[in-house]
Amino acid sequence: MSSTPEIDIVAARQRISGIAVRTPLVPSLPLSEAAGTDVYLKLETTQPTAAFKLRGAASKILSLPEEDRAAGVVTASTGNHGRAVAYVARRLGIEATVCISDGVPPGKVAALRDLGARVVVAGASQTEAMRRAFEIVEEENRTFIHPFDDPEVIAGQGTIAAEIAEDLPDVATVFVPLSGGGLLSGIAEGLRQFSPGAEAVGVSMTRVPVMYMSLQAGHPVDAPEEETLADSLRGGIELDNRYTFDLVRRLVQQFVLVDEEEIWEAMRFLFREHRLIVEGGAAVGVAALLARRPGSVRGPVVIVISGANVEPSYVAALVSAAPAPTL
Ligand SMILES: *Cc1c(COP(=O)(O)O)cnc(C)c1O
Repeated sequence: MSSTPEIDIVAARQRISGIAVRTPLVPSLPLSEAAGTDVYLKLETTQPTAAFKLRGAASKILSLPEEDRAAGVVTASTGNHGRAVAYVARRLGIEATVCISDGVPPGKVAALRDLGARVVVAGASQTEAMRRAFEIVEEENRTFIHPFDDPEVIAGQGTIAAEIAEDLPDVATVFVPLSGGGLLSGIAEGLRQFSPGAEAVGVSMTRVPVMYMSLQAGHPVDAPEEETLADSLRGGIELDNRYTFDLVRRLVQQFVLVDEEEIWEAMRFLFREHRLIVEGGAAVGVAALLARRPGSVRGPVVIVISGANVEPSYVAALVSAAPAPTL
């Protein structure tokens, strides 16, 4: 079941350097004043695909032997991971196949096709899309690129911690959005390697925090998804999770859950104070910090702002005083 993989962040950093960018660490005066300690934002929104998942996808695809790369890669995500895989494939001149369910909105399909991906519509659910992806892997001898549970993907996400350690050597606390746990595992492992005095805090939404529930249960659990502003954090960790559950369990002690109201408030805060358009799943760290008592978090603090791919229909409400479309 579980195994302890080597997470080689130094090698990953070298591999991805031509594709993912080194992102800025920006001080936030309003958050520093609210928290009573120095707070910085790590802006993964500035990646060419507007989310950190490019790091993990590039790390994994570039770790493949030449012949596997040439045979093409497969995924079943239409979100930030699918987009990252399609982008890396296009940059490398290889073929990406993205399996989707027939419920995926046309805009998302068009975005993947624009990146040159082969889009395969398979069935009515994400589960069926996933099954089709695995069939294509077998039939066409291609490689499946997992969104989180893979040592090279985790190492790619961990490059964020390497950059933070360089830019802010005395960093004490890093708030990290948490879904499947590739981002949190990578950052916690990176802090262990490069900044051992610092601690990662995992942040999920109350509307079904599957990793958090799994940690409480002591083993990976499954739970039905719910609508949430943090749509990029939806989904499970897989009952046969191989890496991220153990890494998170071993390396992370603190977790925070935030509700829909808090997520929306954090999205609005980031627009108001920093003129940033941030998706719900990327704003949870700010929501978690704002929910804490001033002076209760050890600084300096870094909040990972993981992506900017907000539903276009939300943007108008976000920049005005309107309530969230789903609240
Ligand atoms: C995927 C994603 C996350 C969560 O990453 P995991 O590795 O699945 O925990 C957080 N924020 C955004 C924007 C994402 O796309």
